[in-house]
Amino acid sequence: TLRQELVELDKKYFIHPTSSLQDQQENGPGIIFDKAEGVYVTDVNGKKYLEGMASLWNVNIGYGRKEIAEAAKEQLEKCAYVSSFTGLSNEPAIRLAAKIAEITPGDLNGVFFTSGGSESNDSAYKFVRHYWKVKGKPEKTKIIARERAYHGVASGSTSATGIKSFHEFTTSLAPGFVHIDPDDPDAFRKAIEEEGADTIAAFLTEPIQGAGGVNFPKEGYLKEIRKICDEYDILFIADEVISGFGRTGKMFACEHYDIVPDVMIMAKGISSGYIQLGAVVLREHVHQDLIKYSKGVLMHGLTYSGHPTACAVGLKNIEIMENENMVENSKVMGDLLASKLKELQKETDIVGEVRHLGLVGAIELVKNQETGERFKEKLSVKVVAKARERGLILRNVVYWDKDTIVYSPPLCINEKEVNEFVDILKGAIFEVQTSL
Ligand code: PLP
Repeated sequence: TLRQELVELDKKYFIHPTSSLQDQQENGPGIIFDKAEGVYVTDVNGKKYLEGMASLWNVNIGYGRKEIAEAAKEQLEKCAYVSSFTGLSNEPAIRLAAKIAEITPGDLNGVFFTSGGSESNDSAYKFVRHYWKVKGKPEKTKIIARERAYHGVASGSTSATGIKSFHEFTTSLAPGFVHIDPDDPDAFRKAIEEEGADTIAAFLTEPIQGAGGVNFPKEGYLKEIRKICDEYDILFIADEVISGFGRTGKMFACEHYDIVPDVMIMAKGISSGYIQLGAVVLREHVHQDLIKYSKGVLMHGLTYSGHPTACAVGLKNIEIMENENMVENSKVMGDLLASKLKELQKETDIVGEVRHLGLVGAIELVKNQETGERFKEKLSVKVVAKARERGLILRNVVYWDKDTIVYSPPLCINEKEVNEFVDILKGAIFEVQTSL
C-alpha cells in the first residue's frame, strides 16, 4: 500500500525533529498525514483526527484556507523572493511590519523578520546585547530566563531554554544565560544582586510557558518583573511564539497582564503554520536608540528576513483572523471547553487541575484529586495515545514530576467540535482509569 511504501522511505531517509531515532527505526511514523481542513487532519488511510494541538500550537486560523493558498500563489508568481538587505524592500514585508505594529500592544513598532521562533529568539538576544553595546554598556550581556521555559533549539535559544533535557542533548551551551525560579519575582531581584544589574541585558520570558506544561504566571508576577526591569535598566523580552495571535483570547498574552515588553518575539500563529515566518518586534525607544547609536551596517540578517511570499501569507492570515473574529472565538470556545473539562474532572477520579486562557490549556492527571498526589507511572502518555486512537490529537508533558495533558486547538473551533473534543478525551480518560 501507499502507507507501507512511505513508512519504508521514512525510516530510511527522514530524520524527524524531536523524535526517538530508535523508535523511528522500529515503528516508523504512527500517522502519515494527507490532508487537512478546519480543525481536522486526515491520514493516508483516510482516518480523520481532530487536531487538538493545532499541530505545534501554531495553526491558529485552522487548516485548508484557500485564501492563503491564493495569496501565496499570487505572490509566488508575481515576485516569489527578493532580498531586504541594505536599500532593498518589498510591499508584503512593509505592509506586514506595519500591521504587526498596529496589532501589538503599546509602541511595539520596529519589526525584524525571521523564519521561526528559534531564529527570532537568537535574533532578539543579539539585538538586546547590541543595544547595550552601542549605548556604551558592553558588559550588559546576560539574559535572565525562567526554569521550565522553552525558547527553541538554536544555540542561544537552547541555552535560554529551562528544560534540562534540551541542554543534555548537546555538550556546549552558549554562555550568558541564567535561570531562576519561575514563580517568584524575588528570585529575579536575587539574581540581580548576585550577577549585578550592570551585567544583565534582559529578562526573557514566555508570558505563559507552553512546552513546559502550560504554566500561567502567578498573580502580579509579570507586572512585578516589568517594574524590576525598569528599576534596574534591564530590557524585558516577551516570547509570544505560542501565546501570540489570538491563542489566549486576546491578540497577545501580554495584554492579559497589562504589560508592554521592550522586545516581543513571535512566530507560529503569525502565519498559522502555512509558511515559515517569525519576527522580533522592538518598542519605539529601543528602535530609536538603535537608530541613534548603532553605526554602520546591522551585522545581523537572514536570507529570508522579510521574505515576500511568507509575509504575504502572514498578512492574509491576520486578515482572516480579524475578519472572522477568531480572537474572540478563542475566548468564547476556550471558556466553553474549559468548563466542560471541569465537569469531566468531577466525573472522573484522575483529573486534577484544569487551567486555561482562551484556547490554550492543561489538564493534570492525579492519583488523589484532593492532595494532587501523582501516579508513579505517567498516565498522560496513555491518555494521549488512547485519545489518538479515538481520533483526537493531544500532547503530554512529563518533565519534572508533571503528568500533564496540554491542548491548543485551532481558533476556528466551534461548539460541536468542542463537544467532540471533550467526548473523545472523556472516553480515553475513562478507558485508562478503568485499566488501573
Ligand atoms: N519560543 C517558544 C515559546 C516556543 O514555544 C517555540 C516552539 O515551540 C519556540 C520559541 C521555537 O520556535 P521554532 O520551533 O519555530 O524555532
